[in-house]
Amino acid sequence: MATTAADAPDRSPAGTGPIPWTDAEALVRPVKLPLIDRTASALVTGIPPVIFLVGVYFGWTGHLLVWQDLVILAFCYALIGTGITVGFHRLLTHRSFRCNRWVRAGFAALGSAAAEGPVIDWVATHRKHHQFSDVQGDPHSPHAGHDHGFKGAIKGLLHAHIGWVFSDMDVADEHRYAKDLLADPLIVFVSDTFPLWVVLGLALPFGLGVALSGTVTGGLTALLWGGAARIFLMHHATFSINSLCHFFGKQDYETTDESRNLAWLAVPTWGEAWHNTHHAFPTSYRHGMDRRQLDLSAEFIELLERLGIVWDVVRISPERIERSRRPFRPVT
Ligand SMILES: [Zn+2]
Ligand SMILES: [Zn+2]
Repeated sequence: MATTAADAPDRSPAGTGPIPWTDAEALVRPVKLPLIDRTASALVTGIPPVIFLVGVYFGWTGHLLVWQDLVILAFCYALIGTGITVGFHRLLTHRSFRCNRWVRAGFAALGSAAAEGPVIDWVATHRKHHQFSDVQGDPHSPHAGHDHGFKGAIKGLLHAHIGWVFSDMDVADEHRYAKDLLADPLIVFVSDTFPLWVVLGLALPFGLGVALSGTVTGGLTALLWGGAARIFLMHHATFSINSLCHFFGKQDYETTDESRNLAWLAVPTWGEAWHNTHHAFPTSYRHGMDRRQLDLSAEFIELLERLGIVWDVVRISPERIERSRRPFRPVT
């Protein structure tokens, strides 16, 4: 059964109730093992692009690319990308729909394979981003704390894209931001076993490569494309939402932040780049409100709803959408 979100604007992190906190500094906790955390972040963001470049070079020279690898890359990108956009983001962070606890845990496991951090950390960080969008306390704003002008803009964009992963060793406190997830033993299990899901996300393309080619070499080239290249491409698709979608593009709806809609980026991000719309209606299952705005994540949620796998899909009333639309302001 579909529900309609309340008309009142909701600026809470999950879009599910009032904000009970005001002090941004009180909402973080120190990283338990900063050296290990930084090293792991450096490896998981640094190694895939190197492998990707090696793959592109040898692929270009005709030595290391077969059609099966591109099919495996596309399949793994679609499957695991859905774990992030539909699972981590729309379901677990914003509760845009409901499903049974096994499907919920399945989405959490799929998203974990993207190597973007344990699900509970990811959700806590993103809810904090919504609470403090582009002001002090936002974990990855390209604006807050950065100077105006070209140099400040470049520094802000770099920080929002990837620098924040290393520069801020205080993380969003999950006991403040993700209590609902901490209360679910299945989600806690998936979060605590995060490296297992990353490894399984690498085993999948390797296994598919062996199956399609019949050779271990075929498995290894599939691992390169469906594993390392896929992690690299998906990381930067997600990072671009934090950086580019708070800097470039259109502000179709009234929000109190700098979020933007960036049409071309909606394709590789499964609709997540309608980010201004998302900040205006955080709980909406659909981010591309206009039918011409491609939002594959929303199409997938609709399919799951028709199959009876998900329900209580949050839809925003047309009246509220129209009321929130930014008036046209002619350039003077
Ligand atoms: Zn944002
Ligand atoms: Zn969000």
